[in-house]
This record gives sequence, structure tokens and C-alpha cells, in this order.
Amino acid sequence: MAASKLCRHLMPTGRTCHSPAMGGSAYCYYHGPKAAPRRAARKTPQPVEDELDLVPASEPSCIDLNSQRILFALASNRISVGRATTMLQCLQTSLASIREQRQFNLDMADAGVIFETAPEETSAAN
Ligand SMILES: [Zn+2]
Repeated sequence: MAASKLCRHLMPTGRTCHSPAMGGSAYCYYHGPKAAPRRAARKTPQPVEDELDLVPASEPSCIDLNSQRILFALASNRISVGRATTMLQCLQTSLASIREQRQFNLDMADAGVIFETAPEETSAAN
């Protein structure tokens, strides 16, 4: 039994399509070169790519707020899927970093390590 070639199209997840490739093509029916004009012909209005008012992602609640703003902007077609994806991935990284830092602080507190706090810069600036 000859192994059929699989479509080489990369999905947004980073994995390949896994559908059988069309004869003589590296892509399946949906991702081949003939599919591109059909997809481009759709009358989907392009997002306007608005500037978003996001807050610094220093706390999980800020990340929630930013996520909601990004989703609302995406839902109202004010930003593209690609831009929203990038922003949400950055927020995911920020959240992981915050959680990692908090766990590190808890582990250090359990171990009895006390961090010296920097003097308040707000009073020095005034
Ligand atoms: Zn495919």
C-alpha cells in the first residue's frame, strides 16, 4: 500500500493540516493554490487596526482586563486575528511569568529568605 502524501499547509497551531494532498500537489483541496483566490474573494471587511488602550500587565487582573479589551476589539473587527493572537500570546507569557515569580517568592519565604526592599523612589523624585 502506497503511503499518501499529506497536506503541507501549516495551521495556526503550528501543526500541519494532515489531510491527504491532491495528486501532484503538496496541498489538500482546501489549501492548494486554487483555494487561495476563493478564500481571498470572500467579502470580509478588513479590520481597521485600531490602537487599543491596554494597561501594564503586572497583575493577573490587568491581564484579564487586557484580554477582554482584545477580544472585544476582535469581535467588533477593530483588530486582525493575527494581531489579537500575538497580543493574547504576550499576555499568556506575562501571566506565566507573574505566576512563576509568585511561586518563587513563596518558595523563598518558605525557605526563610528575606528580600531587602528598595527605598521608595517616589519620595526621592519629589
Ligand atoms: Zn490542507
